[in-house]
Amino acid sequence: MPHASQRPSPSSPPDWHLLDADEALRAQRSDAACGLSADEAARRLAAHGPNALATQQARSWPALLLAQFQDFMIVVLLAAALVSGVLGEWVDALVIAVIVLLNAVIGFTQARRADQAIAALRQLAAAQAQVLRDGQPRTVPASELAPGDIVLLEAGRQIPADLRLLEVAQLKVDESTLTGESVTVEKSVAALPANGATLALGDRVNLGFKGTMVTHGRALGVVVATGMQTELGRVAGLLGDAMDRRTPLQRRLARFSRQLSLLVLLICLGLFGLGLARGEPPLVMLLTAISLAVAAIPEALPAIVTVLLAVGARRMADFNALIRRLPAVETLGSVSVICSDKTGTLTQNRMHAELVLAGGQAWRPNDVKNDAQNRTADHAAAALPAHHALLRAAALCNDATPLNPDEARNPTGWQGDPTETALTAVAAQAGWFKPELEAAMPRVLELPFDSDRKRMTTFHRDGAPGGGPGGDQGHGGFIAYTKGAPESVLPRCTGQWTPEGVQALDARAMLAEAERLAAQGLRVMALACRAWPALPPAPQSVAATEAIESELALIGLIGLIDPPREEAAAAVRDCISAGIRPVMITGDHPATALAIARRLGIVGTEEAQVLTGAALAALDDVALQARVQDVRVYARVDPAQKIRIVQALQAHGQFVAMTGDGVNDAPALKAADIGVAMGKGGTDVAREASALVLLDDNFATIVAAVREGRRIYDNIRKFVRYAMTGNWAEVLTLSAAPLLGLPMPLLPIHILWVNLVTDGLPGLALAAEPAERGIMRRPPRPPGESLFAHGMGWHVLLVGALLAVLCLGLQHWAITSGQGHWQTMVFTVLTLGQMAHVLAIRSETEPLWRLGLGSNRPLLGAVALTFALQMATIYVPWLNPVFKTQPLAAPELALCLALAALVFVAVELEKAWRRRARTFAKSLP
Ligand code: ATP
Repeated sequence: MPHASQRPSPSSPPDWHLLDADEALRAQRSDAACGLSADEAARRLAAHGPNALATQQARSWPALLLAQFQDFMIVVLLAAALVSGVLGEWVDALVIAVIVLLNAVIGFTQARRADQAIAALRQLAAAQAQVLRDGQPRTVPASELAPGDIVLLEAGRQIPADLRLLEVAQLKVDESTLTGESVTVEKSVAALPANGATLALGDRVNLGFKGTMVTHGRALGVVVATGMQTELGRVAGLLGDAMDRRTPLQRRLARFSRQLSLLVLLICLGLFGLGLARGEPPLVMLLTAISLAVAAIPEALPAIVTVLLAVGARRMADFNALIRRLPAVETLGSVSVICSDKTGTLTQNRMHAELVLAGGQAWRPNDVKNDAQNRTADHAAAALPAHHALLRAAALCNDATPLNPDEARNPTGWQGDPTETALTAVAAQAGWFKPELEAAMPRVLELPFDSDRKRMTTFHRDGAPGGGPGGDQGHGGFIAYTKGAPESVLPRCTGQWTPEGVQALDARAMLAEAERLAAQGLRVMALACRAWPALPPAPQSVAATEAIESELALIGLIGLIDPPREEAAAAVRDCISAGIRPVMITGDHPATALAIARRLGIVGTEEAQVLTGAALAALDDVALQARVQDVRVYARVDPAQKIRIVQALQAHGQFVAMTGDGVNDAPALKAADIGVAMGKGGTDVAREASALVLLDDNFATIVAAVREGRRIYDNIRKFVRYAMTGNWAEVLTLSAAPLLGLPMPLLPIHILWVNLVTDGLPGLALAAEPAERGIMRRPPRPPGESLFAHGMGWHVLLVGALLAVLCLGLQHWAITSGQGHWQTMVFTVLTLGQMAHVLAIRSETEPLWRLGLGSNRPLLGAVALTFALQMATIYVPWLNPVFKTQPLAAPELALCLALAALVFVAVELEKAWRRRARTFAKSLP
């Protein structure tokens, strides 16, 4: 095992493609059979650093804190405060500085939360790599690869580092991420000629590059460069990270807040001029205007939206929905169609045989799980010789492997394709154990399964298996067993020879039988055989394969059941009530697919809308668009057709989520509005192409993610509604007062304080708001819908105006009736009015008393804290001079509370009116 950590210097890496595979191994001091030792890998990792691109280094906390002060208006405010301090108002200056600092701390905490949530998501989504360490294959995080590691590649994997390939088997790689070239590159291992030193990356066919995708075949390679030393690392400056990309909402909000800032600045400038014209002291007026600008400019909006999205995405990961692109959190709420694979996503992908049909009789094995003890004898006795012949074929024409070789007689102890493990299990129930059968009848040739043919064939030397019930007499030559979909196998059953003289079945009659079973939701496997006196040569063409898989004799059918997932039917119901159409896409038989779709509620009792892959292929795009709105089940579809389904749906304005797991699914996943990859069974290629990964491969998780996406979007809307209303009320109060001939209602510190206590905590606590009751009973949100839709713009304008009118009315009344505490009262109403508002807008329709005060504890806490702090500025004696306030008498405080409560009442009335309007709209014919 190699241990030295010597390596070619990074400044002059050798031209790896010019070296022999062995030379490359020697240069990296590695060993293709054993890989590195764990210790050596750790040493090299420490020397070279992690195999990661340096594009997204987390921001350090001092940088983050400093960033909070980089806002231009904050700098102007601090400068103005400094000037007023120098001129003698040092308490004011200090208070302003402290408030600005506190504001920065809040901003900093929010940014940290967002960063941490995103870092946690990245960690969860981190790529894995298959390596050889200490002679054993291991799965390690791709970031832990070191030069010299031996990496195993297979179709669907992303290449985790730059590799010199050592062995390839039909390896094809999609290098478009690196070279932009969309044609896949076929790889080889031989060294390239010395004059190839200047070859373009795409022509260095014996190398594998980090970040590119294996689309076909397998390979073994030695790591020659990691992290920023890789070819991808060299161009990494050009690559963005999907997590850092701004969402459409963030972009729109950033534009909106820029426009609004300009407006606020103009208003503040006007206010400043107005004050000067009225003879107010210039410095006080300057501070007032700037404080108002700082308070009312919604510069934090995009940042807070990031927090809500990032924290929401982090929460989604807890229920197995891993977000790979942040914009998906926001757009999930717009999904109007979910196209889902059947096997494993809607069903459990745990198959078992329900029915074994041979010799004109059905044999029903008991469920293996319920029959672990008494599994062979009784069953075996109940089965006919024809059943035994069928089950032997099912066990032999089968690639499942025992989990533990010592337990090969255990019907549940098999791994591999669930279709095949179900067959080995049922064979074992009847006393036929695959390893024993294979010992007697070794496999000598195979035509592997592919989903185009939908069948596979294996050739066995025909020895007597012995020991099994029914016995068998070998006839000396070879037996070929073919297993596959009935419509693929039965038309080839024109022969008569079967082992043991079991009667061959009539293929045409059995095709009808197979249809009948499929209509019950069973996956039907047909098994047939043919005797070969001598072994045919391995076929090199489709025609040769077809010729071998002909003149078969049909032994029987086996019906397998893959039960629907328990939560799937409820999730389908949720989808439908939420205005989302669930669509099933499967490679399975149309009748099987339809039966399962019925059971899940994807199709009702009406005329079923099933489209097969063959029928789909015959439709042109226009014809497909005409059908696509009605079809609920696509059967016998191959993955390459999924993209046409996505595009046809999108042509109708649908917002499509599409699931997939294989290499061929990637184009459809990319084209879909939300690509959804399988986390358990899926390939790296599918994951890379997706916005969402289901860690549990479960359909119900997509629906849960949609619900969460809707909740997060709602809460963003609530936050914006709350913050904009408050800001508008502040701007209106301060700018209208001079126009109405009133003195400035508030001092700069009051404005800054209101901004500090109302915007920070209560706003953020809205992120914890639970989903509204009817969240999955309303239609999807149109993707382009404005954030201010559904009357929110009016709400902001009117409720903000109401609060301003209350403040100004109070000020006017208090001054004219000689109340000395008018400013403290206005200050208090402006703060508490916003608290009343935030409580009232927790739901867009439901009254607060139905939600329950305690159903958002963080918000309740934030409101209570804000209230207490406000009371402190009024009643703590030493704070009076700091905040220029006076303790209010009980009736004065009561008046303030009553005015603030009016805001609450007004919003509750608005909601009641909204509820009535909705009920009325529903009652219309
Ligand atoms: P889904 O898209 O829901 O995963 P699927 O698993 O049926 O569907 P494929 O794997 O392409 O899709 O299989 C297509 C058909 O080929 C199956 O319906 C089945 O009839 C047949 N088939 C599947 N696996 C095997 C196998 N191991 N041996 C023989 N035939 C098989």
